[in-house]
Amino acid sequence: MSTPVAAHNLFENSEVFRMACEQLRTVAAELPEFDVGIIDRLMLPKRSLVVSVPVRMDSGKTQVFLGYRVQHSLTSGASKGGLRYAPNVDIGEVAALAMWMSWKCGIMGLPYGGAKGGIACDPAKLSLGEKERLTRRFTEEVLSIIGPRVDVMAPDMGTDEQTMAWIYDTYSMKIGYACPEIVTGKPVELGGCIGRREATGRGVVYCILEALKELNLTPDTCTAVVQGYGNVGSVTCDELHKLGLKVIAIGDRYGSIRNTHGINIPALQKYVLAPENERHTIVGYPKAEAIPDDELLTTPCTVLIPAATERVINKENAGKLQCRVIAEGANGPTTPEADRILAETDVFIIPDVLCNAGGVTVSYFEWVQDLQQFMWDEDQVNSALRKQMHKAYSKVRHKALSRKLTMRTAALSLGVEKVANEKAKRGLFP
Ligand code: GLU
Repeated sequence: MSTPVAAHNLFENSEVFRMACEQLRTVAAELPEFDVGIIDRLMLPKRSLVVSVPVRMDSGKTQVFLGYRVQHSLTSGASKGGLRYAPNVDIGEVAALAMWMSWKCGIMGLPYGGAKGGIACDPAKLSLGEKERLTRRFTEEVLSIIGPRVDVMAPDMGTDEQTMAWIYDTYSMKIGYACPEIVTGKPVELGGCIGRREATGRGVVYCILEALKELNLTPDTCTAVVQGYGNVGSVTCDELHKLGLKVIAIGDRYGSIRNTHGINIPALQKYVLAPENERHTIVGYPKAEAIPDDELLTTPCTVLIPAATERVINKENAGKLQCRVIAEGANGPTTPEADRILAETDVFIIPDVLCNAGGVTVSYFEWVQDLQQFMWDEDQVNSALRKQMHKAYSKVRHKALSRKLTMRTAALSLGVEKVANEKAKRGLFP
């Protein structure tokens, strides 16, 4: 396979991008039927836009932020993916996340290509007004490459329903009519889908239950450790707690806590959301002990759920994990080196592109409802999500067993195969 020259300049400085490419190369070796030209095309995003986003801060000064939108593929339909606000976001990371969205949508059978966006900023340090001005100006700057049939954004790390409401409003003001289908993950009152906020965490839990069944384990005899207490981590904790599975340790960006008897998740949630807990952190929760962050992932447990960020399970700690299952709530939490170490153990990995795909699946439901102006009720959403997750899980599991592949290679090859097939059938223009 040739290496696209341009990649060296723009994306290859990022270890996250190099990791996504390494995964694609591993999968390509399993798919010899595809022309290398097609795999080369999948190695680079279709289109990337870098914008500067000037914002009038509350102080009266102007601050300029860097924003990115990367569309990995437009082959299967509009591109789809979140918008992330985080201090260290860069073009390579966003390109990797966009590539993973393509495989995720392929595995789930959604009519989308992958995309991702980001703005390098610390949302915890911005006022509500600053965040609104940042979001509206970013929307304006990427207007030429987004659209309900072109590229549809959704929440990701550091963004939420309110962020999507501002994008929806800005876009609608520009085109002159209300266009809810421009974003997903909106507030329900604005055409958002009931259950979208909880969908990623719920999907993670459906996958965990399937894995436990296969390992002959029942939830009430199991324990979980969760890294991340944002949208994905907190909903996952809540759903596991409801099933009687004990969550014994949790970490967020401020620190980690542990209670080997099980953390009372509703009580923790109340503590986190209390107005006096200004940073809305789990740290300081009275019914758990504080532990060093580097002890979190190596805490003995049945299910380890990295639900924060990339590359946290790496060659330094992979050999020290003491879990039976890894359920990847985050995108890209396990490096290829760690994958190779874990492949020698009996740790069962539910890879990100399958495990956290519940979010984009319900995003798809939201988009369909907005296009049709025909809204579903909660039961309809949840049962469709469960069905779609089960179907994808068993497709991946079947591929892994029948072709003797790891769960990650099986999942990725299903996603890559779908996109590569579509590219091959559509042909190369001109
Ligand atoms: N940001 C989420 C993800 O990484 C959701 C994307 C979407 O709903 O479009 O899958």
